[in-house]
Amino acid sequence: MDIIVSEIPPEGVSVQSSRDQGWFRRQAPDEIRRQFDAESILFYCIVDRMGRQVTIKGTVHLRLTASCTRCLEPIGLSLTGDFFYTMNPGRPLEDRGGEMELTMNDLEVGLYNNDRIDLEPILTEQVFLQLPIRTICGEGCRGLCPVCGTNLNRGACEHGMNAKAPSPFAVLRNFKVTKKR
Ligand SMILES: [Zn+2]
Ligand SMILES: [Zn+2]
Repeated sequence: MDIIVSEIPPEGVSVQSSRDQGWFRRQAPDEIRRQFDAESILFYCIVDRMGRQVTIKGTVHLRLTASCTRCLEPIGLSLTGDFFYTMNPGRPLEDRGGEMELTMNDLEVGLYNNDRIDLEPILTEQVFLQLPIRTICGEGCRGLCPVCGTNLNRGACEHGMNAKAPSPFAVLRNFKVTKKR
């Protein structure tokens, strides 16, 4: 997905691209792949140029299956995120001893080299930036029994973990009981 900067017309270039489940599975680190799977990925952006400075404005739309962080049941997610990059020309690659790869640092400061901008790293970065840290199937999710692994949304287990949804004050309650003794 290379853009040749000097060939960007005055009205800009629009780029639309999609990625499939196979792409997501190849790109995702293990810990991401354990929590998420992609159904579809759509990427859309407009690349504009003012002199040598390039702006990339776009949207990424993801349809995913995630597992609930508490009970591990699958949930469907639809996520949309906007992004905006400004890219300036960097030093020509010849000045860097033939080093051909763009480093992460180049991306952060928004540099491009040799009249080319590769949109692929931007697409990849935007897909993974959209993923939430926690995915909960519902606020009331009771999760799994820490002892036997029973899904407590479905029913009780012999450990009595189904009595109440886990409360952040549970620890305090236990503390008071101990003091009275
Ligand atoms: Zn859940
Ligand atoms: Zn149990």
